[in-house]
Amino acid sequence: MTQSKGKKPLIVMKFGGTSVGNPERIKGVGEIVADHAERAEVVVVVSAMGGVTDTLIRAANQAARGDREHWKSVRQDLARKHREVADQLLTAAEQAEVLPQLAEQLSNFENLCSGFSLVREVTPRAMDTLSSLVEVMSATLVAAVLRSVGQAAEAVDATELIVTDDNFGSAAPIFDETNPKTKQRLAAVRKKGAIPVVTGFRGATREGLCTTLGRGGSDYSGTIVGGALEADEVWIWTDVDGVMTADPRLVPNSRIIPEISYREAIELSFFGAKVLHPKTIQPVMKKKIPVWIKNSFNPSCPGTKIVPLPTDRTPGVKAITSVSSANLVTISGRDTLSFPRLATRVFNGLHLEDVSTLMVTQSSADNVLCFALHDADLPRVRARLEKTFELEMLHEYVGTLEVMPKIAIIVAVGENMKGTPGIAGRAFSALGKKGINIIAIAQGSSELSISFAVKSSDVKEAVKAIHDEFQL
Ligand code: ASP
Ligand code: MG
Repeated sequence: MTQSKGKKPLIVMKFGGTSVGNPERIKGVGEIVADHAERAEVVVVVSAMGGVTDTLIRAANQAARGDREHWKSVRQDLARKHREVADQLLTAAEQAEVLPQLAEQLSNFENLCSGFSLVREVTPRAMDTLSSLVEVMSATLVAAVLRSVGQAAEAVDATELIVTDDNFGSAAPIFDETNPKTKQRLAAVRKKGAIPVVTGFRGATREGLCTTLGRGGSDYSGTIVGGALEADEVWIWTDVDGVMTADPRLVPNSRIIPEISYREAIELSFFGAKVLHPKTIQPVMKKKIPVWIKNSFNPSCPGTKIVPLPTDRTPGVKAITSVSSANLVTISGRDTLSFPRLATRVFNGLHLEDVSTLMVTQSSADNVLCFALHDADLPRVRARLEKTFELEMLHEYVGTLEVMPKIAIIVAVGENMKGTPGIAGRAFSALGKKGINIIAIAQGSSELSISFAVKSSDVKEAVKAIHDEFQL
């Protein structure tokens, strides 16, 4: 750990939903923090208790449909779940302080749902206020639990730290404002010798309207706070031992990777390796702050360290990630519609639907553009493109949209594939030997990853074949 002389290193520790999922888990958080607080200065960022965000969103949507009963039972469940933590872990004095704060959030929840049921709608802006109030509850509890074990701690609402744009539901931080604000607000807590316990997931616009950073966004909150404070390290506590060489459900002998680079981590998170929110690395990149993935259920396991550049230069594949159920969409233009024009209009359509592709290929002789989409995005994109090219399709300047469903996209990731001949060859012949047909292939010039599409039914065997070939 880098550390200036005589000064304790600063570690931002983010605890995810399962790490604060019940009283026993929160007790574990208290132990982990207390253990490290002797050697380091710790700043904590917390998610909501596991599963409650989903429950809240469902309750809001139900209310907007006019259901005036559902939220009442959800309120009771929420109250019970949080109350249980207070009952089991807090002193009577702490309970007296914390319970009214939890009650306040619960009545916010109820009032919001009641409002949604009256106007029969829930706007993204209102949803953000509602869906992230459980982070306020978990931060309140975790701070109180820390105090109960003798650590000075203070819950801090991230709406006071993280300034975002007004893209409700998936807001982007404005770093120039977030960084000084976070530093200043947390300095006030740190000066008192207290551990700040910051709510993950939420931020606020300049006007003070609550926003959220997107589902799973507490990881991002962790590195935003880490970057702002120029922390020595950010530790993301989750429920797995680290980043794995492949999905263990597909490859039983997959293993933990001790160290990966920023770019490899970004690549892996983009393709659905659930351990990390895709934007997590961005706030720490410039300052080169290492990020650890650690298991709060198994704290003695070192986990995976995410570093600016790989230190191990062994050529080859580092990890494999996959999306098991996707669609390959093909659109072909006739001679009269140049490829750039076809592609421009297709990608503009994707942009308007706010959809990202999983992979893209172009074949040369005819104007054929092929791209892969998540199942959930297909209906919107199909409707959009059929409208965009309505006239051209009618006159057959553009062929109809061909959709190949039940496709898996497999991505082999590794910075050290760059400039190493034969990697793709080895991967593909490993698949060939198993009789697996490759439907499409893409690799960028960064050579950071090779993506290819196979039938969904082949995904398990394909991932395993590559995993074996590179002896991961
Ligand atoms: N509680 C939020 C969610 O479930 C944020 C997070 O857990 O990272 O999406
Ligand atoms: Mg998460």
